[in-house]
Amino acid sequence: MNITVNKTDTPKQKPDESNLQFGKIFTDHMFIMDYNPEQGWHDARIVPYGPLEYDPATAVFHYGQAIFEGMKAYATADGAIQLFRPEQNMQRINQSNDRICIPPIDEVFALEAVKTLVDLERQWVPKAEGTSLYIRPFIIATDAFLGLRVSQNYQFIVILSPVAAYYPQGINPVNIYVETEFVRAVRGGTGYAKTAGNYAASLKAQQKAAQKGYVQVLWLDGVEQKYVEEVGAMNVFFQIGDEVITPPLEGTILPGITRQSVMELLRSWDVKVSERKLSIDELHQAFQEGKLVEAFGTGTAAVISPIGELCWGSEIIKISKETGPLAKRLYTTLTGIQTGSLEDTFGWTVKV
Ligand SMILES: *Cc1c(COP(=O)(O)O)cnc(C)c1O
Repeated sequence: MNITVNKTDTPKQKPDESNLQFGKIFTDHMFIMDYNPEQGWHDARIVPYGPLEYDPATAVFHYGQAIFEGMKAYATADGAIQLFRPEQNMQRINQSNDRICIPPIDEVFALEAVKTLVDLERQWVPKAEGTSLYIRPFIIATDAFLGLRVSQNYQFIVILSPVAAYYPQGINPVNIYVETEFVRAVRGGTGYAKTAGNYAASLKAQQKAAQKGYVQVLWLDGVEQKYVEEVGAMNVFFQIGDEVITPPLEGTILPGITRQSVMELLRSWDVKVSERKLSIDELHQAFQEGKLVEAFGTGTAAVISPIGELCWGSEIIKISKETGPLAKRLYTTLTGIQTGSLEDTFGWTVKV
């Protein structure tokens, strides 16, 4: 499929790199393609960034048939731009699509589209330490019809946003609230898909945690509220003794690309990694016995986010006021590979 390019006549001023935030400003162009049952995905185009107009009856507004992705483009010191394991994001789009009945995309073509858009917006990739160009592909159901059914028409859109370093003051532990009332996902549900409704459903707990002074929520399983699942938009790892544990992919947690990369790195360093169920009781007991060494979240936004303490009911599980050696090493290695300052021996980066 050919991608037509309609460039803007009024390019915007680039932002001050020392003053970036997350997801507030967008580049000059966006990518769009349409789907209908007759033509499949078609009319791939890059157009000036701007508002889109939809009928108020459009399916996505009412029933949330939508998926999204989050990835980043990094500027390297020698002036190149690279993506981190982008084919994994494209694969995950199709896993999410499948769960909520959106027709599959051509993963190779979608990656070409992302690369073409990022290439056109090269000047927007910030170069300051820790900054990047955040890439947000998403798909929405566009039938103008109020009946609850699988939509026939869709749009795949990609927008780009230059973003700040996640830790302007350096990587630091955050405190997390263990949610024991609300749940995020259940067996057979949509937990493993990056679909809009999961995030709407998580807001209430997020708000509650924020009111109590916590930055994020640690979700427990939706059946017994016994086993650890994940944190906000991050997967989670705990080091107990010399074992590093992360919950298994059983349909309720998001299969993070950072999670997968962290496991591969740890194994390459001969660190024992287990994907297994971890109950909050086991975690609490390990803490009491002095065996809980480190805890951290993993995700595209923060890469590695060390956990300082967990608030679980009336208990405070204190882990560390400082970033542990494992989290630090993972952060340095992953960001080094992403920005090209470390050799990419895994073949994870893709040049734009
Ligand atoms: C996106 C996301 C993650 C992290 O995935 P990455 O591919 O590492 O960015 C983890 N949990 C949830 C719920 C997410 O939405």
